[in-house]
Amino acid sequence: MLLNVVLGFLCGGFALAAGNDPATQGPPPLLLVSFDGFRADYLKRFHMPNLELLYSQGVLVEQLTNVFITKTFPNHYSLVTGLYAESHGVLASSMYDPVSHKHFSLRNDSDPWWWSEAEPLWLTALDSGYETAAMMWPGSDVAIGNRTATHFLPYDAAVTFRQRLGNVTSWMAGNGKEKGAMFAALYWEEPDRSGHAFGPDNNTAMAAVLKEVDDCVGLMVSELRRVGLWGKLNLVVTSDHGMAQCSAQRLIRLDDCLHPDNYTLVDLTPVAALIPNTDPEAVFGLLNGCHPHMTAYLKKAIPERLHYRDNERIQPIILIADEGWTIVQRGNKLPRYPEAVFGLLNGCHPHMTAYLKKAIPERLHYRDNERIQPIILIADEGWTIVQRGNKLPRCEISTGIVTSNSNQNLVNISIKRSHAE
Ligand SMILES: [Zn+2]
Repeated sequence: MLLNVVLGFLCGGFALAAGNDPATQGPPPLLLVSFDGFRADYLKRFHMPNLELLYSQGVLVEQLTNVFITKTFPNHYSLVTGLYAESHGVLASSMYDPVSHKHFSLRNDSDPWWWSEAEPLWLTALDSGYETAAMMWPGSDVAIGNRTATHFLPYDAAVTFRQRLGNVTSWMAGNGKEKGAMFAALYWEEPDRSGHAFGPDNNTAMAAVLKEVDDCVGLMVSELRRVGLWGKLNLVVTSDHGMAQCSAQRLIRLDDCLHPDNYTLVDLTPVAALIPNTDPEAVFGLLNGCHPHMTAYLKKAIPERLHYRDNERIQPIILIADEGWTIVQRGNKLPRYPEAVFGLLNGCHPHMTAYLKKAIPERLHYRDNERIQPIILIADEGWTIVQRGNKLPRCEISTGIVTSNSNQNLVNISIKRSHAE
């Protein structure tokens, strides 16, 4: 078996000094921008001059750890609530609540009930007396606790980045008499959409979309300059998860494990959620060990480290595909992209594998020793890290240690600090 080490995620954080402008009363405004599905190594693989200029003037963080599961809604809600998915209640793209019998999907996401286990920043800041804005960020057009941000627009994928940005900068700039929004969240669907459609390994397609993303960054900076906000606000550019290359050669078919009468499917891949129609232990028994690249958990046994257990909306059985693998019910094809517009799902959300030494989680107790190398790569259970080729090494290992000064494949390495204008 060959492990393709695929990187987890990217977070770029950029802080612009708020200056000492006497007109600036209190803290500077904060603009939080997410480019969905921006995989960590895109920054290394593709030239993005606007993004590079931006972080050269601010701070580039080393690592963002996304929450489990690596889906857009759970992670975006975590970014604005500070909570794991089990605590904020937006646990997946498709959910079922066994108490209320309600269903949630990306097309049916506006019932405030799903979002009300937590409070997003655009509401918290209201309580401090600030105006806020949220543009197409997951949950931002939902009246959570009967409230929305001061400014928002209903989600519409057809609204361009330029249009979204124009609204946000105008809301933040205020009108001369009234102070503008002090917190704004701005969401853009790329490069996630293209990553799914073409796969992150498609250099030609990804170069094109990442140029567009970079142009969006350039546009954002010029707009902030135009309205007089540049240098007076804090700007954070981030993402929610990375993107792994999927393949029709890496399918896990549930029909090979059990008959569909045995379960009701709530969510599919890369983390499937099932409700057993018969004895849960028996259904679990059929799934457990069924495929070498799929791990099955009864809800009560989901590992603590995933922070994905203590919520009614987590189903009795979850199945986790190894990175790059796709769970389907049957057949030999990759699933269609959710909106069925972009073709097959060639990119899928990955699980994490790489750590800088200082970022190795405390729970592993594998950090505070000189003999631990600068970078470690951890294979999912059952996978083997090799340098090349298609053969297992003579002695099977589950953890590979790379002694290398090359940070090429790690999440953003350099840290620079400077003030903006
Ligand atoms: Zn996403």
